[in-house]
Amino acid sequence: MILKYRYEPEELKLLQSLHGRMRLSPKDYSLFLNLEKGFSGEKKFDELLEHSPEEWIILNDLLFDYSNTLFQIDSLLFTGGCIYLFEVKNYEGDFYIEQNRWYTVPANTEVKNPLLQLQRSESLLRRLLQKLGVETPLKALLIFINPEFQLYQATMNLPAIFPAQINRFIDKLKLKSQPANKNHLMLADKLLSLHLEDIPYGRRFEYTFEGLEKGVKCASCQHFMDRLHRAALVCKNCGYKEDVELAIVRSVKEFRVMFPDMMLTTNIVHEWCSDIISKKKIRKILSNNFNHIIHGKTSYFE
Ligand SMILES: [Zn+2]
Repeated sequence: MILKYRYEPEELKLLQSLHGRMRLSPKDYSLFLNLEKGFSGEKKFDELLEHSPEEWIILNDLLFDYSNTLFQIDSLLFTGGCIYLFEVKNYEGDFYIEQNRWYTVPANTEVKNPLLQLQRSESLLRRLLQKLGVETPLKALLIFINPEFQLYQATMNLPAIFPAQINRFIDKLKLKSQPANKNHLMLADKLLSLHLEDIPYGRRFEYTFEGLEKGVKCASCQHFMDRLHRAALVCKNCGYKEDVELAIVRSVKEFRVMFPDMMLTTNIVHEWCSDIISKKKIRKILSNNFNHIIHGKTSYFE
């Protein structure tokens, strides 16, 4: 049973919107690619666990604060005998370990040691569980999800599951593990109540409404869409078609993420969507989907 699903992180959503509407700095662009890659790896792992036994409890994408230290967990799995903490990595290409440091091949560039990150989350979660009086053992594992990943010079006792082992690992778990019980469900609920909803971004991105390219972005490939006919838009890059109203509402939500303080008016949405739809139609779509507020001469939507 999946008690908490994973959603696209707000920071990734924002970068996705900015990408294509303005030139991202090399640093932001690489952050965007990393977030996107990480998220798609985590989703892939979620799909593998989707068909797990009903008696397992799964919590995805958690953020806790334990004695003023924030830590994030990709996935927690509760079985009867053990709680598993999974840190999912979507690394691609060849890597090697030397004296506890991780490097890429052939560039020999050092990368962050994912084991340290795993150990940190494990230690903080263990302390949190102890405080809650939990005695079920905790096992922390790195999951390397990308089939194009290869790690050299790893010891056998590295707490990691490699791409070729994931299916066997899950099958074995299904065979040998006990179902989670009521106490585990209570614990999962308790942890869920401690989860922090808002992941504070480390930094702000600089952009203005005027400085961004306007238009309706394709939901499938992020290119700008064109008018197909009266009731639909089309993406000339990937062929994706979308109902006009759905596309405009989606664009308005995107606008909201990027400009939470700006007033939502027909004119602004008309400009945001690059005049692709008439103002009259925009007003109708906004009225259908949002609350129309009228204050004297001011009229906006919420
Ligand atoms: Zn497209």
